[in-house]
Amino acid sequence: MARRPRLHEFRLIEQLRRTFGRTGSAVVRGIGDDAAVIAPPKGRQLVLTTDLLVEDVHFDLRTASLKEVGYKAAIANLSDIAAMGARPEYALVSIALPATWTAPHVLRLYHGMMAALRPYRVALIGGDTSSSPHRLFLSLTVTGSVPAGAALMRNGARVGDLLYVSGTLGDSLAGLALLSRGRQRRAARSLTSSERRFLIDRHRRPIAHPRLGQALSQGRLASAAIDLSDGLSGDLHHLCEQSRVGAEVNAASLPLSPALHAYARASNSDPASIALQGGEDYELLFTVPPAKQRALQRMARRAGRRLTCIGVIRPKTFGMRVRDNTGRVRRLPITSYSHFRDAATE
Ligand code: ADP
Ligand code: MG
Repeated sequence: MARRPRLHEFRLIEQLRRTFGRTGSAVVRGIGDDAAVIAPPKGRQLVLTTDLLVEDVHFDLRTASLKEVGYKAAIANLSDIAAMGARPEYALVSIALPATWTAPHVLRLYHGMMAALRPYRVALIGGDTSSSPHRLFLSLTVTGSVPAGAALMRNGARVGDLLYVSGTLGDSLAGLALLSRGRQRRAARSLTSSERRFLIDRHRRPIAHPRLGQALSQGRLASAAIDLSDGLSGDLHHLCEQSRVGAEVNAASLPLSPALHAYARASNSDPASIALQGGEDYELLFTVPPAKQRALQRMARRAGRRLTCIGVIRPKTFGMRVRDNTGRVRRLPITSYSHFRDAATE
């Protein structure tokens, strides 16, 4: 039997259902039964993703609010759905709560989550609730769908395809640095308040791009895609491994915000390195066959999106390299974050 949290579990679930639960034509049965019942979308394939967040491993409640934790958990899942070219549809949320928690804590967490999910009309259809001896555990599952056969995979990149990225890179990492204590303080002081706010906001309230993902899968504009959660170099490495290819990135082409340039100047660092290292940008990295480039540019114009060609796919033997501003080509170091970096688990 599961350990029950101190707060009244059934009352809490009822409150969650009333506040956030939704039934619609496709939701035959939502929160409140043994399991949810959904009418499958015709002619489409299901896309399912889940993310587990552990207090003090993935977030720190001394520096992040509950709303922010919920919001970012939802963004991580939405971004995975986006990277598959899918439309997000349903969410299931499992939580293990420290004994000191009360219903308002949980509601704040859910408010954050739903703030990210609601714009895409993702319906909360279930979950599970348990207690935890000390720390909060939050597991979020988001499902979506794509037209059959249209999902964008990591393994579709071909030699000669162009490497593209959405938005700007490195802002979230700079925002995190500004929030952390220590030597970044001086850098922070020489930024304007709007530059500071922009970078911190990109860290605290990142945006996922499911509509862009769907536009990329629709005309098969992209041959492969991945979302940038770990950082450009690490995520590009995943895409290259899966596609059995190499890649050349042009540092001068990396899309950088004015605020990131200002931050790099103030902290005496190289903005391109920050962008390559990245982390939690939640932009999409994708490859485009040359024959689709015109159609891609048309789509970007119509959708008012910044999409930037940052390089090209090369044979596997080329490896992953970056051409710097002086034209020198060097190996691209993989610098992104891994929870098991020191363990034998890769
Ligand atoms: P069971 O014992 O069958 O798992 P529960 O009491 O855990 O039933 O769940 C009852 C209903 O409430 C189910 O529809 C379940 O999906 C939903 N639910 C439980 N916990 C949560 C939660 N934390 N968030 C959203 N829905 C939840
Ligand atoms: Mg249960």
